[in-house]
Amino acid sequence: MTATVIDGKAFAARVRAEVAAHVARLKEEHGITPGLAVVLVGEDPASEVYVRNKGVQTVEVGMASFEHKLPAETSEADLLALIGRLNADPTVHGILVQLPLPAHLNSELVINAIDPSKDADGFHISNVGLLGTGQKSMVPCTPLGCLMMLRDHHGSLAGMNAVVVGRSNIVGKPMAQLLLGDSCTVTIAHSRTKDLAAVCRGADILVAAVGRPEMITGDMVRPGATVIDVGINRIERDGKVKLVGDVHYASAAAVAGAITPVPGGVGPMTIACLLANTLTACCRANGLPEPKGLTA
Ligand code: NAP
Repeated sequence: MTATVIDGKAFAARVRAEVAAHVARLKEEHGITPGLAVVLVGEDPASEVYVRNKGVQTVEVGMASFEHKLPAETSEADLLALIGRLNADPTVHGILVQLPLPAHLNSELVINAIDPSKDADGFHISNVGLLGTGQKSMVPCTPLGCLMMLRDHHGSLAGMNAVVVGRSNIVGKPMAQLLLGDSCTVTIAHSRTKDLAAVCRGADILVAAVGRPEMITGDMVRPGATVIDVGINRIERDGKVKLVGDVHYASAAAVAGAITPVPGGVGPMTIACLLANTLTACCRANGLPEPKGLTA
C-alpha cells in the first residue's frame, strides 16, 4: 500500500482563504477588523522567524497585526503590564506570547495573565479546563490543525482507535482531548510506555508528537492507518541540514493509508489555525456567529 499524502500546505492555504473571506465580511458588514498581538521577548532566532511569518500571514488575511518586541532583560512586571494593556485594548482580539520565554520569566504566570477569551494559543489554564470538560474554548493551534486534517480526510472519527505519542501540554494532551471530543478511543503514549510499537500498531489514527527524529517506523504502523506527524526536527544528512518529522516517512508511508509529510504537513496548519482562532475570538467578542469549521 502507498499512503495518500495529506497536503497540509494546500489545506492551510484553504483555511487562510476562508479566514480572509470572513475577515472581509466582518469589515464590510460590521466595520470590525480582527487584530492579533504577538509578543516576543528576547532574540531567539527561531522565534523571530516564527513571529515574522505570523505577522506576514496575519496581514495577508486582512487582520491587524500588532508586534511587540521586547528586550531579553524585560522584567516580569513590565511584561505583565503590556499584557494588561492588550487585554484592555478592544482592537486586539487575539494575544500570543511567543515561547520559550527567557529563563527569568515565569511562563505559566505570563500565559495565565492573558484574558482567556483573547488567548489565541489556547494555553491559558481556563481554556485547558474548558477543553477538558468539552466546553467552548480557545483550542491550541497545532492540535486543532491536526484535527481539521483528520476530519477532512475521514469525515467522522467516531469509534476510531487513536494513539497520541507525546503528552506535552501544547500538543499531546490537547490532541488527545480533541480526539476524545470526536469520540475516538484514545491512548496517550509517552517515554514510559511499555512496548510502544505494539501500542502504536493498535492505532487507526497515529499522532506522533515526540521531538525525536524518525522514531516511529513503518513496523509500528497498522496497515491502512492515518499517520499525523507533528514533529519538526533539524538533522544533518549528507552534509546538509534537513527537516524531518518524528515519523520515518518512507517506511511508514509504505504501510499507512494516509500520512502527513514533513515539511508541508502539520507545520503550515499551525499559523492558519492561529488566524482562525483570532477570527473566532473576534466573533465571540462581538456577539457574532462563529465561522463554521474553523474551531473544534
Ligand atoms: P515535548 O514537550 O518535548 O514532549 C515530547 C513528548 O514525547 C513527551 O511527552 C515525552 O514523554 C514523549 N517522548 C519522548 N521520548 C519518547 C520515547 N522514546 N517514546 C515515547 N514517548 C517519548 O515536545 P512537544 O512540544 O510536544 O513537541 C513534539 C514535537 O512536535 C517536536 O518535534 C516539536 O518540534 C514539534 N512541534 C511542532 C509544531 C508544529 O507547528 N508542527 C508545534 C509544536 C511542536 P515524557 O512526557 O514521558 O517525557
